[in-house]
Amino acid sequence: MPITPRVRFAPSPTGELHLGGARTALFNFLFARQKGGQFFLRIEDTDSQRSKSEFVDQILYSLEWLGLTWNKPVVYQSRRRDVHHDAVRKLLREEGAYRCFCTVEQLAKERDGASKAKKLYRYSGRCRNISDSELKQRLNKADPFCVRLLIPKGKTKFADSVYGPIEVDHKEIDDFIIQRTDGTPTYNFTVVVDDLEMEINWVIRGEDHLANTPKQIIVYKALGSNPPKFGHLPMILGPNGQRLSKRHGATGIQEYRDMGVLPEGLLNYLALLGWSPGDDREVLSFNQLMKEFSLKKVVKKGAVFDEKKLNWICGQHLSDKKSEELLQGVHALDQEWHKDEQLDYVLNVIEMVKTRAKSLSELVEFSDYFFDDPKSFDEKSIRKRWHDNSVTELMNRYWVSLHDLIKWEADSLEEHLRAFSELEGVSAGKLIHPTRIAISGHGVGPSLFELMSLLGRERVLRRLNYAIDNLPPS
Ligand code: GLU
Repeated sequence: MPITPRVRFAPSPTGELHLGGARTALFNFLFARQKGGQFFLRIEDTDSQRSKSEFVDQILYSLEWLGLTWNKPVVYQSRRRDVHHDAVRKLLREEGAYRCFCTVEQLAKERDGASKAKKLYRYSGRCRNISDSELKQRLNKADPFCVRLLIPKGKTKFADSVYGPIEVDHKEIDDFIIQRTDGTPTYNFTVVVDDLEMEINWVIRGEDHLANTPKQIIVYKALGSNPPKFGHLPMILGPNGQRLSKRHGATGIQEYRDMGVLPEGLLNYLALLGWSPGDDREVLSFNQLMKEFSLKKVVKKGAVFDEKKLNWICGQHLSDKKSEELLQGVHALDQEWHKDEQLDYVLNVIEMVKTRAKSLSELVEFSDYFFDDPKSFDEKSIRKRWHDNSVTELMNRYWVSLHDLIKWEADSLEEHLRAFSELEGVSAGKLIHPTRIAISGHGVGPSLFELMSLLGRERVLRRLNYAIDNLPPS
């Protein structure tokens, strides 16, 4: 029977949660929950210098916003010192680890020697065989020491679900430090102790940890346990092929929220960084991701971050959403947004602009002129469409004619404009473009007649009148 996954996301709160971390969290979440498993969150905050509580808050908040909720409780690694120390003591007792009294100067000398001889530095293992009496003596003198893991002879093999079979000869691994001289345990040790206690049976994390995995497997063995399964996720690269940097989308997840990006769009895009459903579909709902995600389809090749694609996917999700839901989203960013307007009108505005917007902020921006009369006009469009007084005169006659229109609806507005242009002996475009500029301030936008109908007679006539008085600019 397949085991039910117990996975974890284990960020270090030394910075905000950004795309890479969010993708790791997402893949863990999908992998576990699609099989009825559990997804835990462990905050690896043992580096007291660099860990900040505001980053912890930001990480929790961002995960919640994305909907990647975890099985409770959150585990804080810093609160587990005793457990880590107990594990170190157990290993010392069982001689799986030893105290190393080498001084910083001694080690630096060894390192220097190795580099002069053009050899890879490895700790010599000098303190492996300290006699009991010397040990006693040094402990009595309170000589400082760190604790190193005794790496046994042999090889470590494992099959990574993404990177395939990996084998490392222990000759390549130092007796690495599991507890520093100041008493703090190190990452490769604490991660194993915690994963063991949390009964994690799958470790899914970034490829940057692949090199740590053999070391961690040796720790599992030393502690008398079986390692979990591993799956490492390919790196996310910037458009320049380098590791993703702040300049290229390494923005905190919270900034995406503040920019009005929809979480489902961002999640959909993140899922495609290293994974695909196996065909050319790119727009997938969260339910589809839940159904279709599989570690087997994750590729090794670094995934290149593409902001245009992110925006496009977000736009697709946005236009698929109901206007009521979008309004809720806008209100989550700005509670007051057109609260006093007629609800129907606001919803119709959203319906009209949502197909062009890629984020809630764009939705707000594109909706502006539905509420406020434009007082400035797109210059390029004016130069092209409202270049001289002949346009003003034509528009003035059109404005007058609109007063006689009985039904202010898209169909009759179109019929009227076309009949009027025929009467004037000009193409319909000669009226359509200036009218759009006058009522929206822009050269492009939704269907003009739908727009005029929604804005209503009063607004349209008032805006046309203002444009006639002020265009072309002198
Ligand atoms: N805390 C580590 C990091 O933020 C991740 C540890 C792990 O997933 O094993 O890179």
